[in-house]
Amino acid sequence: MSIAASYLEDASGHRGTADRVVIPADEAELIALLQQATAERVPVTVLGAGTGVAGGRCADGGWALSLEKFRRLEIHPGYAIVGAGILLRELQAAATQAGQFYAPDPTENASAVSGNIACNASGSRSFLYGDTRRHVRALRVALIDGTVLQLQRGQKPPFELPAVPMPLSKKHSAGYWLKPDMDYLDLFIGSEGTLGVILEAEVVLLPAPAELLTGVVFFSSDADALRAVTEWRGVPNLRMLEYVDAPSLALVRPKFDGIPARAQAALLIEQEVADLDGPELEEWIDRLDAVNAFGEESWFAANAADRERFRRFRHALPEAVNDIVRRQGFTKLGSDFAVPFEHNAAMLAFYRQHLEAEFPNQYVIFGHIGDAHVHVNILPSTQEQFDRGKQLMTEFAAKAVTFGGTVGAEHGLGKRKAHLLALQYSPEQLEQMKGVKRRLDPHWLLGRGTLFPYPA
Ligand SMILES: Cc1cc2nc3c(=O)[nH]c(=O)nc-3n(C[C@H](O)[C@H](O)[C@H](O)COP(=O)(O)OP(=O)(O)OC[C@H]3O[C@@H](n4cnc5c(N)ncnc54)[C@H](O)[C@@H]3O)c2cc1C
Repeated sequence: MSIAASYLEDASGHRGTADRVVIPADEAELIALLQQATAERVPVTVLGAGTGVAGGRCADGGWALSLEKFRRLEIHPGYAIVGAGILLRELQAAATQAGQFYAPDPTENASAVSGNIACNASGSRSFLYGDTRRHVRALRVALIDGTVLQLQRGQKPPFELPAVPMPLSKKHSAGYWLKPDMDYLDLFIGSEGTLGVILEAEVVLLPAPAELLTGVVFFSSDADALRAVTEWRGVPNLRMLEYVDAPSLALVRPKFDGIPARAQAALLIEQEVADLDGPELEEWIDRLDAVNAFGEESWFAANAADRERFRRFRHALPEAVNDIVRRQGFTKLGSDFAVPFEHNAAMLAFYRQHLEAEFPNQYVIFGHIGDAHVHVNILPSTQEQFDRGKQLMTEFAAKAVTFGGTVGAEHGLGKRKAHLLALQYSPEQLEQMKGVKRRLDPHWLLGRGTLFPYPA
């Protein structure tokens, strides 16, 4: 029986193989399936909604496990209970309807909330609100032998866990989260489906902000945009500070009117304010002036429709990149490295220098610059370019590590980037992570090939 591609692929274009797709109707059926898989030593790969870009959900044989029927969604004051099959946009809509707000917003709202937790996704609003981890207060997780754990924030692991060094970047989601005195649920967050199956989560809801001041600010040079980033990071209640470089602007220009022809960079900003008639808009006019930003030609949202247009503008970029790469017959060649903010400009200069030398007119840089975390995407047109691009990405990752950064800030490493983990961690530290994997999944059945090669 052939298996639909939607169960084998993710947004990177990576494609896996599976013997069977299993879609349990409820927890009892899921437990029986996991017990059978353990008894028969069948590898199991957990599927979210397939928007990941690291190939983690693309099975490497065995069963592909879809939790699409786990559809519980309850909104309570201050929190929500979310089944594994609930999409981010469904949670966001239900929270909004109740006058509340789910803070994490990893751009692609067709992702599953459980997939966000499995990758510890973050996105633009993490500038103010942090990553998904910070918003999880309980998790229901099934281990591969069918044991179900209900874990609360504050609950400690039942066995001793090693600790590995954390990078100095604000964001990090590469390998297992192993910190002294950590909560047990933090081990599963960001573990990319290799330690347990997330069945349900309790996540924090916040009161919806009164108003949002949203803008797309254009600059005639990268230097001005970078100066603005440094100056604006301290703006009160700024929740988004995103960067778009000149090649990115060129890519989306045909789809969006009003991008000034002489713009060489843009910053997307979003500030929570009490009232749109307050002093903040005037303050932005002064701020734009102080850093030589375009005043008249920058965009500020007057209503919800404008805000939605700006959201589409931001989302259009990674989408356009993924489309181009697929059309050329390649898989995504994108970075997800973050560095401590003091190295932001140096990291960006390093990227630019190498890309201009080797891939002029074939790359874009955009993303979460407020957290020193931009995404470089190379758009290869030949196999030779793809191979060199892949090598260059490894060189970029190594540079990020020398700056105290991480090789994976929010997408996870999946199967496509698993090799980068060894740039950040020593063989001993990797062995410690694998020891945790063996303890919870002794036959190495869950998410085989993700994060670590299968020790055949
Ligand atoms: C256009 C675009 C923009 C994006 N922008 C951002 C961004 O700004 N920030 C960001 O962080 N990400 C971004 N992403 C990446 C992606 O949306 C996230 O990685 C998302 O968290 C993946 O969720 P998913 O449900 O699609 O998971 P999948 O792709 O299906 O799976 C991802 C991983 O999670 C595991 N997994 C999924 N569900 C479970 C579960 N229930 N239990 C255990 N493991 C599970 C899988 O095995 C796999 O390893 C973007 C993607 C696209 C296509």
